Amino acid sequence: MRGWWRSWTAEGLDALYPPSCWVCGAWAVDAFACAEHRIPRADPAPPPDADPPPRPERARCIRCALRLPRGVPAGERCAECRRVPPAFARTFVCGDWGPGPLREWVLAFKHGGRRDLARPLASELRAVLGERVAEFDVVVPVPLHPLRRLSRGYDQAQRLASELAELADLRVARCLVRTRRTPPQGAPGAVSRAANVRAAFRLRRFAARSVAGRRVLLVDDVVTSGATVRECATVLARAGAAEVAVAALARAGDRARAFDGCDPDPPPE
Ligand SMILES: [Zn+2]
Ligand SMILES: [Zn+2]
Repeated sequence: MRGWWRSWTAEGLDALYPPSCWVCGAWAVDAFACAEHRIPRADPAPPPDADPPPRPERARCIRCALRLPRGVPAGERCAECRRVPPAFARTFVCGDWGPGPLREWVLAFKHGGRRDLARPLASELRAVLGERVAEFDVVVPVPLHPLRRLSRGYDQAQRLASELAELADLRVARCLVRTRRTPPQGAPGAVSRAANVRAAFRLRRFAARSVAGRRVLLVDDVVTSGATVRECATVLARAGAAEVAVAALARAGDRARAFDGCDPDPPPE
């Protein structure tokens, strides 16, 4: 009933007000974005008879979605995932962290107070998951520290997880808590990212039953070094999760980090 009502009203509103871009308000070319802010779908499969691209995209690590060095074939793991395998099986991302529309969406969502962008961004993530969404039972957001949530007014990963769960017809379990406030990445004197987040997360009291035996989709906005999702996945695995995978809007890589270093915007994580 609710779905029917919503689609009926959405149609009515579209007729009255043609859709505009959620980021900038310009005339939209699809449900959410103008031509400039349309998020390109990650790694579209080329038609079988297409010429190979002159400079093929670098394949992603099958576990953490980090771009592999050029020339490394698809289906491989990155050096870090070979050295210390993460507790998650794979990572779904909408794209890479770097100049482009996805970055503008995420910055507006995280740092521009645009909590309403959770819905279109979750819908983008839902499209990336495709049929594989059936492989999961529950969506778990990476939690924000309560103090940071207070200063921002909302927890963006939690909003994203709730919207995704609704779109994918999954349950959402806010079963993780952040116990320490980790200093922002790149702060002067900051220790390594891994040491930074170690023991920064724990399972909420009495939350084990929402995770035990379940196939968990862990949701964050941007995966930077991967240390945060690694730590969260370890906590979930210890709590008896049958399987953990990660879904995030963007994956930052080596080049993206170099880009952020000379960027006046706050870091993505
Ligand atoms: Zn726009
Ligand atoms: Zn990896």
